[in-house]
This record gives sequence, structure tokens and C-alpha cells, in this order.
Amino acid sequence: MSEEHFVVIGNGPAGNQAALTLKEKAPESRVTLISRDQEGSYKPCFLPDYIAGKITEDQIYLSSLSSYGEKGIKLRSGQEVVDVNPGRREIVLDHKEVLRFDGLIIAVGARARIPEPLLIFRDLMMTLKTPEDAKAWIEKLSQVERVLIIGGDLTSLTVTKALIALKKEVYFILDENAFWPLRCDEKMFGDVAQRLSGAGVKTFYNCKLQGMAQLSEHAVEVRVGEDIFEVGLVGAFFGLAPDIRFLARSGLPLDRGLLVNETLNTGFEGIYATGDCAQVFHPEIRDYWVSIGHDNAKAMGRTAALNLLGERRPVDVATESLFDVQGIKVNTSWWMEF
Ligand SMILES: Cc1cc2nc3c(=O)[nH]c(=O)nc-3n(C[C@H](O)[C@H](O)[C@H](O)COP(=O)(O)OP(=O)(O)OC[C@H]3O[C@@H](n4cnc5c(N)ncnc54)[C@H](O)[C@@H]3O)c2cc1C
Repeated sequence: MSEEHFVVIGNGPAGNQAALTLKEKAPESRVTLISRDQEGSYKPCFLPDYIAGKITEDQIYLSSLSSYGEKGIKLRSGQEVVDVNPGRREIVLDHKEVLRFDGLIIAVGARARIPEPLLIFRDLMMTLKTPEDAKAWIEKLSQVERVLIIGGDLTSLTVTKALIALKKEVYFILDENAFWPLRCDEKMFGDVAQRLSGAGVKTFYNCKLQGMAQLSEHAVEVRVGEDIFEVGLVGAFFGLAPDIRFLARSGLPLDRGLLVNETLNTGFEGIYATGDCAQVFHPEIRDYWVSIGHDNAKAMGRTAALNLLGERRPVDVATESLFDVQGIKVNTSWWMEF
């Protein structure tokens, strides 16, 4: 019998851990790890420190590109999967190559979320997810002094800290839809506004963004309530949403994320989803939950790999750690302080 070929899509903490576990537990198998990122696996939580100049680019990566080969994993970086055909057990890459698999783990994570009403300003706003995004921030920050942050998710607070360290003048519009993935109540929102103001950030709370217009390459005019001011960079931070648009025609079960049972199986034999892109059924609460955070992603990556190899391990989550955000149950392992 020929060796089994396992494919993992996504080289974030979930996919990376899944590939390592597959190779560790089934060393005779062929493991291919596909990532549209050009480089190896990185820790997104290091990006704000990279922007602040506290760490170098090398330090955001978990391992060198050569280390994958040393571990027996074939890394295909800079390649995007554009379709999955569960029946034929094939995936299609953006350059039209078709790869066959015996087992598949989808760990494509999430992308920066921008709420519908703000999409008209999309071209004026920067988001932060990848090292490429961070480099674009560094480049832009070298040319501007004033920055507006819109949103209020956890990343926005760490980025604001980085901007303060860089001695930038920071404006912040707290948007009630943004404190994703945390449930936002009045008190918490008020506390955040107070902390931001205390740190010297000009904070708008309970005010709607009225409009934005590009005045020049480095100047955007912003109107909030009665105020009009100019900034050089606008960052949008409204949490992360599963990046599963490429699966629309695949026949895999999709909702907010890729639907899986408690063992992370999609309902198709040998096809699993894990990390931020998965929406996981919880038999006790009879509802789906999503995970956000590095540690959850890593643990879920290992669980998916073990189950692909024949175990039937439920993903480990306590019902009390699930909370409701806009009708979606969220389990976060995020850590931070501001
Ligand atoms: C700026 C920032 C700061 C953060 N800070 C923290 C923090 O302090 N603490 C914390 O716990 N969490 C933090 N997070 C969240 C944490 O990083 C995520 O929860 C975690 O990375 C999720 O891991 P994942 O493997 O599921 O997905 P991701 O890390 O999103 O990885 C997805 C992978 O899939 C690849 N991919 C996507 N689509 C395709 C495709 N079609 N074809 C090929 N490859 C594809 C991507 O290139 C990437 O390699 C932060 C996130 C960001 C963006």
C-alpha cells in the first residue's frame, strides 16, 4: 500500500501544530502544509511589538523555512487553496494545480472583519493580520504622526499601546460593535474609554463616525460628532471572522465558520477543520461555538490531527468558558493587558 498523504491548509498555530502532530504520530505518512503566507508560521500576537520596534522581524516567526523539511513536512508557502472537492478528495491551488489527499485538515484561520456600514471607507483603512500588514504599518508610521483607531477589539488595544510607545498622537473611536470577541457591556466600555483617555488617547465614546475623506497621500479628514480632525493613518479593528469564502462551492457545511462536530470532523470522512475557522458543535449546550486565541488554536490543531489518525477525542472546552457575543458562543484563550 502506498504511503498516506495528509494535507493541512493553513500554517497558523492550529495548522502548524496539526502538521507536527501528524508527523510525530504517523512518521511514515506524507504531510503537506500549505500556506498563502510567503514565510513560515508566525505569532500574530507579536505583530504589535514588531510595529513598536521592540522586536525584529526574525522574532515573529516560530521556525525557519528549512526546519519544516528537517521535520519531514513539505511546506508549500505562498500558495493559496481556492477550492476543495471532498468527494474526489482533491484540493485546487490558485495556480490550478490539483493535489490529492487521504486526510485533510482545514486550519485557515480568520481575517480582519470590517462591519458592513464601514465598507465604503475600506480604501482609507488599514487592518493588521499578517507580517506583510505589519510592514505596511511600519512604512506608513514612518511618515505620519497622527493615527486614528476605529473599533475597540483586543488587537486595537495592543496596537494603541505600540503607537503610544512610538510617541504617536492617537485618536480612538470606540465602536459598540467592535469589542469582539469580548461581550461588551456599558461598564466595560466605559472602563476602556477611561483607560484610553488616561493614557493620553483622544477617545470618542458614544459618538458615531460621520465621514472620512482622503485629503492627500498622508492626510485623511475625519468627522466624528461635532469634531473634525486630520490623521495620517486610520486602522480598523473589529475582531476576526473565519476566512472560509473559498469553500463556498465545496459542499462542506458552512455557517459563520466551517461546521464540525465535537471531534472537529466536517461530516466527510477524513476531513477536519480546526482553529479560528472552525464552528464546533457542543453536545451539552446543543449549539455551535467558535474559538479565538493562540492557545486554543494550538490545542485544537493537535486534537484534529489525532482524530484524523483514528482517535475520537472531543475538543476540550468547559461550558462555563463559553460566552455569547451577538448570538454566537465564543471561547477565547486570548491574553492581554492594557
Ligand atoms: C494582530 C493580532 C494580534 C493577536 N494577539 C493575540 C494575543 O495576544 N493572544 C491570543 O491568544 N491571540 C491573539 N491573536 C489571535 C490569534 O493569533 C489567533 O486566534 C490564532 O492565530 C488563530 O490561529 P489559526 O491557526 O486558527 O489561524 P491563523 O493564525 O489565522 O492562520 C491561518 C493560516 O491559514 C492560511 N490560509 C488562510 N487561507 C488560506 C488559503 N485559502 N490557502 C492557503 N492558506 C490559507 C494563512 O496564510 C495562515 O497561515 C491575535 C491576532 C492578531 C491578528
